Amino acid sequence: MLRADQVLTDPVEMLAYECDAYTIHKGRPDVVVHPESTEQCAAVVRLCARMGVPFTPRGTGTGLSGGATPLCGGVVISIMRMNRVLSVSPADLRLRAQAGCINSTITRAAAPYGLHYAPDPSSQTACTVGGNVAENASGPHTLKYGVTANHVSGLTVALPDGSVVELGSDADEPCGYDLVGLCVGSEGTLGIVTEVTVRLTPNPRQVRTLLAVFGSVDDASRTVSRIIALGIVPCALEMMDSIIINALEDAFAMGFPRDAQALLLVELDGLGPGLDAETAAVRDLCSEHNARSVSAAASEEERARLWFARKQGVGVLGRVAPNKVTQDGLIPRSRLPEVLARIRAIAERHSVRLCNIFHAGDGNLHPCVIFDERDPDELRRVLAANEEILRLCVEVGGSITGEHGVGVEKRDAMPLMFSEADLAAMRRVKAAFDPAGLCNPGKIVPEPSAEAVPA
Ligand SMILES: Cc1cc2nc3c(=O)[nH]c(=O)nc-3n(C[C@H](O)[C@H](O)[C@H](O)COP(=O)(O)OP(=O)(O)OC[C@H]3O[C@@H](n4cnc5c(N)ncnc54)[C@H](O)[C@@H]3O)c2cc1C
Repeated sequence: MLRADQVLTDPVEMLAYECDAYTIHKGRPDVVVHPESTEQCAAVVRLCARMGVPFTPRGTGTGLSGGATPLCGGVVISIMRMNRVLSVSPADLRLRAQAGCINSTITRAAAPYGLHYAPDPSSQTACTVGGNVAENASGPHTLKYGVTANHVSGLTVALPDGSVVELGSDADEPCGYDLVGLCVGSEGTLGIVTEVTVRLTPNPRQVRTLLAVFGSVDDASRTVSRIIALGIVPCALEMMDSIIINALEDAFAMGFPRDAQALLLVELDGLGPGLDAETAAVRDLCSEHNARSVSAAASEEERARLWFARKQGVGVLGRVAPNKVTQDGLIPRSRLPEVLARIRAIAERHSVRLCNIFHAGDGNLHPCVIFDERDPDELRRVLAANEEILRLCVEVGGSITGEHGVGVEKRDAMPLMFSEADLAAMRRVKAAFDPAGLCNPGKIVPEPSAEAVPA
């Protein structure tokens, strides 16, 4: 059923599939397959089910929580070659694509109609829409426009027994249980998404993009809290700190001041006069909070350059250290200044190097810990600092993940947020879809604790 070039077994090639962009946990697959259609994908799953072999769905492996890591070996089912846009319907504001279609390809296909696909993870030129569905991905512009769950209306899914189901519809409010909602964010543990119908969004009429330069992270984070408290909803509100600024300067000579401690990238969209008033209010707030300068992108090229910097801001850390863990805690925005200060203190206590580039307007923090995993003592300190950061996010009323999912990285932190009864309910949902437990085993929900297992 698959051609020889769709099946990889060479142990050297397996190395590329040992993990995703979270490199601390690894697992070696026995086989990697590249189906090209729903039928081929379902046939591979049926074979795995018949033989009792675990399988792990994979997009392009940009995930940051180890979701695509084949913890139990078996088969990695890579959706990468299922990358075609199948139809665009501007009148219905819908686009249907194979699940391996790259996120930015969808927006490019919608562009001739004045439309776009709103969820825009910073990895959008590399990650797949199937991976976005699995992680319920967000991105800078989801502050105003909502996350993947708000933009998906239909899915084709190969279930863990190899049968194929159609979930949802093109209608906006389907009736019955929201099974699309259940699958979005399920991190490839309930089946393999093979096709996706997404909602398209009209392009904004006008956009204003501001870059504010700050001499202190505290001033920048207080500005974020004030903007949101005033009821202004920018379409994006992003922060980068000095390590990121300098890594970007080293890589691309963007012209950012190397001595700045924080940059805020604020984008507003809407209609002319109201938009100008909001932009002026944001400028004033930046100045009131000691911004050294606030400048507006004067052209589409300048705007694109600023977004290029933001979207390369994580990747450039490869120049700074061999490894990084990008944390993903969510906190109430009003606690931003306090939490950033406490995270700095955690990093100092554990002697780890940490920088910040994140969706500040959402309260979605991404403290990036940079390190060398070949140093066992440094790795131990990194893991300890990570755990403390997650505890802090929960303590202030937030969550252990804002957009990167639980995967294997945060699986053992789930009890920070959920009781044993909650986790047992999640295990029952998983078992309803995957009674044999072969579909992406070892992710999201930890094994029951010893006390919870009846003697
Ligand atoms: C530099 C960088 C920036 C990033 N920025 C953002 C950001 O702004 N916002 C954000 O939300 N994320 C971001 N991410 C994280 C990542 O890009 C997203 O989680 C993305 O959705 C993963 O897509 P992928 O195709 O790479 O999936 P993978 O990493 O291959 O897989 C991710 C998970 O989805 C499952 N999966 C993949 N495809 C399918 C499928 N077809 N059916 C069922 N399950 C499947 C896998 O089993 C795994 O659990 C970033 C990552 C990097 C490296």
